[in-house]
Formats: sequence, C-alpha cells, structure tokens
Amino acid sequence: MPGYDIVILGAGESGTGAALLARKKGLSVFVSDLGIIGQKYKNVLLNHGIFWEEGCHSSDVILCAGEIVKSPGIPDHAKIVAQARKKGIGVISEIEFAARYTNAKKICITGSNGKTTTTLLTYHILRKAGLNVAVGGNIGKSFAWQVAEGKFDYYVLEISSFQLDGMFDFRADVSVLLNITPDHLDRYEYNFSRYVESKFRIIQNQTSDDAFVYFADDPVIDEYLAKNHILPRRLPFTATNQSDCAAYYNNESTFTININSDKLKMEIKDLSLPGRQNVYNSMAAGISSRLVDIRKDIIKQSLTEFENIEHRLEHVTVVRGIEFVNDSKATNINSTWYALESIKKPVVWIVGGIDKGNDYGPLIELVEKKVKAIICLGTDNSRIVRTFGLLVPTLVETSSMAEAVKAAYYLAESGDAVLLSPACASFDLFENFEDRGNQFKKEVFDL
Ligand code: ADP
Repeated sequence: MPGYDIVILGAGESGTGAALLARKKGLSVFVSDLGIIGQKYKNVLLNHGIFWEEGCHSSDVILCAGEIVKSPGIPDHAKIVAQARKKGIGVISEIEFAARYTNAKKICITGSNGKTTTTLLTYHILRKAGLNVAVGGNIGKSFAWQVAEGKFDYYVLEISSFQLDGMFDFRADVSVLLNITPDHLDRYEYNFSRYVESKFRIIQNQTSDDAFVYFADDPVIDEYLAKNHILPRRLPFTATNQSDCAAYYNNESTFTININSDKLKMEIKDLSLPGRQNVYNSMAAGISSRLVDIRKDIIKQSLTEFENIEHRLEHVTVVRGIEFVNDSKATNINSTWYALESIKKPVVWIVGGIDKGNDYGPLIELVEKKVKAIICLGTDNSRIVRTFGLLVPTLVETSSMAEAVKAAYYLAESGDAVLLSPACASFDLFENFEDRGNQFKKEVFDL
C-alpha cells in the first residue's frame, strides 16, 4: 500500500503547523497523536481536510510514510519512532521540514538557558528596525505554520535540543549558542556529552559565509571548540576584558559590541532587563542584529525599552517592604544560580518540583551568602533538604503554592525578597511553569 508522503507525530503547535505546510505544498499528509488533540488544532486540521487520529498510533499507516515529522515532546525512544527508524524512514523535526520551503535569513538561538529571552530581544530589535521578520520555533507560532501562511525575509527562531536532534540539512545564517549546562539529561540517557553534541548541531551545515555567536566564557563550549574545527565565522561574547571578542563586558557599567572595528557601547543601567544573565543575552542579541546591519541607535533603544517577559525574574510586587519575584521558568540549576546572583537582598527562596538529575552543589555558596530561609515546594524534596538543610537557619516543606507563599511571607521581613526560582520542572504539582508562576502571583496578590 503506498503510504502518505508525510506522517506527523504529535498535533500540537509544531505538528499542526507542519501539517498545514505539507498540505499547502501538495504533499499527502496524516497526523497521529497518542493523546487527545486540542480543539483549536483539530479545527485547523478539519478545515484544511487533513486526516488525523488521536489516542493511538496506527503503525500500519505510520510505518508506510515517506518521511515522519516528529514533535519535540516525543522522545526518540518512543516505540513508534524506534520502529520507523528501524524501517529506514527518515524522522525529522518540524524546523527541518519548514526550512525546505523558505529562502529567508534565519537567526537561530539555542542554549540551556536564555533562549526565549534572547529570541524575543532579537526579534524586537529587528522589528523596530522595520524588517519583515517573524519569530518562532520553540516559542509562539511554529516556524512551519508561519512559512505556510506568511512570507517573511527574516526569521528569529528559538531552537531546543529536541528540535536540533531532528535537524540534518538545516543551515542557519546566524547561529547563537548561549551556554551549555546540564539540563534534560533524562532525555539523553544521563550522558552530558550527548546533550553537548545535540546543542552543537546548531552550527551544522554552516559555511564560512555564516556566523556563529557564542558565549566565550562557557567552559563546555570552550572545550568543544578547542577539540573541533568549525567553519562559520566566530563571534564570541565575554564577561572578561577580551576586546578581540565581538562583545565584551569588562566592568560593571558598560558592554561593547565591536564588529569590524565598528563599536557600540551600552550602559548596563540602561538595559531594561535585570541581572548578569541578561547582559549576556543582550550582547548575543546585539551582535546578531549588527550582523544583519541594524543601526546601532536602534539596537540601543530596543535594549532599553524591551519589556520583561513573564515568569523570568519577573518583579511581581512589594508587600510590606517585601519584594516578590517570579522566576518560575528557572527549571534547572544554572538559571536559578543567576536568579540568586542577581538579587541583592536577603532571600526567602521557594524551590523544588521534579528534579531532572540536578547537582545542587553550584548553588551552595550563593545560598550560604544570601538565603535566610528555604521553602521547599515539591512532592519529593529529599535532595534539597539533604543539600541545604544544615546551611540555612530555616527550611520548611510545603505542598501547595498557597502554603508556600504564606510561609514565605511569614518568614520574610521588610527589605527581603521572596524568590520563586524552583530549579526543577513543575509537573508534580502544576500543569506547567506558567501555571506555577501564575499561581504564585495570585497568592501574592491575595496576601
Ligand atoms: P529558555 O528559553 O532557554 O528556557 P528563558 O529566556 O525562558 O530561557 O529563561 C529561563 C530561565 O533562565 C529564567 O529563569 C531566566 O531568568 C534564566 N536565564 C535567562 N538567560 C539566562 C542566561 N543567559 N544564563 C542563565 N540563565 C538565564
């Protein structure tokens, strides 16, 4: 039986976008989702006459496909994916698929932390400069959906390691690698080097005409580059005094972007986003924007007026002199490290959730220095209690956001900050990180 040209596994944002694009390009397409498809996506599939199934994967149909587009949430070891590979069917990501149908310039951003912030910052700058640009990938509307429905000259794409794993011929014009720290190791058989390899797929197929923007101070990136020859032009950014880098931040008050001896100087105090991590993100976005010839004054103005994104070091409010900060998106150790580092007050820290194999060691010094109380918020807090129990004067365990916020409010004094920066995934007690952050804000406003 001749199969469909394309079978799409997973009918979320990326799967539905890929289905639309396949349809538009005249390919025969079938969508299969093991769960229940959201009504919004079902309607789109129905309106476009695209065949689909939910609650099962019909292997007789799927394993006859010409090619499979796999949604990033489906792990490689899923039975149907393994069977397809065994039969020699190509399994690609929606990003790989969509890129076949556009000639637009692509700025592609990956890293363990800071992807969304840097992607939105870059998009904001390009839009402000009047370019015909779209933002997508792991954020907002999927890349394939936008290629199907729009006609853009530039794309700024946030790309996760799961998407990179399904990319083979894709070529970024500008690739950005923000950092590599342990995360998602559960999906990489607890093998860090596999995760590193995955992140470096961002530069695969790049030629010497393309650009690679990366964090020069990251030891993992540094080690990889010492061992591997790479083709694209290198544009590193650094927090040290290396003025031969494309951007450098050599004191506490300014950073400089220097491309082809053309310098842009920016005062840190003028950046709209707080914290050292956002200096890095701003340097990465600034370099990428200069590479597509955006004027310096537009970059400076954009970095000054960019509005903070929800759930990332988001200032919520001040109650009786206590500042509440929502950093619910911090789902690994490194992002929480930057949150703790950026807060200059005594901290009551709400932490916990699903631990993806965390090593809490790197946080110990900051916790000793800044944290006066720890509120654990997860179904299993044992590793947090073991690591920090003896280091802070007070540690309490809670099992709901209401309880956690009340305990934090009780333990904090005027002049302190209550920081929700969980370093863990949210799925034990919440739907996702947005739900966790929203519940936090609601409880704070109810105080
Ligand atoms: P991602 O999309 O990679 O998850 P986000 O921009 O959503 O990144 O930020 C996730 C978390 O990481 C937030 O807690 C944020 O404050 C923190 N963060 C942002 N940029 C960086 C960075 N460059 N290094 C480390 N942590 C960062």
